[in-house]
Amino acid sequence: MADRGLLIVLSGPSGVGKGTVRKAIFESEEHDFQYSVSMTTRAKREGEIEGVDYYFRTREEFEAMIEAGEMLEYAEYVGNYYGTPLSYVNQTLDEGKDVFLEIEVQGAQQVKDKVPDGVFIFLTPPDLSELKSRIVNRGTDDMAVIDKRMQVAREEIEMMALYDYAVVNDEVPLAVDRIKKIITSEHFRVDRVIGKYIKMLKEM
Ligand code: 5GP
Repeated sequence: MADRGLLIVLSGPSGVGKGTVRKAIFESEEHDFQYSVSMTTRAKREGEIEGVDYYFRTREEFEAMIEAGEMLEYAEYVGNYYGTPLSYVNQTLDEGKDVFLEIEVQGAQQVKDKVPDGVFIFLTPPDLSELKSRIVNRGTDDMAVIDKRMQVAREEIEMMALYDYAVVNDEVPLAVDRIKKIITSEHFRVDRVIGKYIKMLKEM
């Protein structure tokens, strides 16, 4: 039987560019993981395709899936449900293939609770790391704006602490490259491979 695949979760604050980075990863040649298409109750946008971008469902259909325990995670975001159907994820991991989720932060927290050995990647806005210098140097913003920005930054940094990796999305190709390198390295972690070697020894 193949080793079980890795569950990779890309998340991060709203507006950081998760969808753009995810699309760039799957459009690139060298990637070796499967995208888990999410389910949503939001209206289809122009150009989106059922089963490719999302599974578009009614609230009733979505709630029936939740009731039946068929969602790995779900969240309500700006008035609509978004979630990850469980069956595709399980089946694909069982086949030994890695599965990639791109989801908002509440959903990522649920996955962390259920699948702690997943790989959790937090995409950060470039201005978060430069926040202090921007605030200090500018001197033009009024206190309310500075406070608001500090508050958002504090929340984002608190969220980041739950993840294994923080990847800055300064330029999409750079972020893509960093994420691919993380996934490659994760496969070589001793705690992920040692079971196989112990089994081999026992069988000798
Ligand atoms: P959009 O409506 O722009 O396609 O997506 C809105 C937000 O929903 C994005 O932050 C995206 O990452 C998130 N999202 C997409 N699919 C899922 C999902 O399956 N679960 C969760 N929790 N969030 C999702």
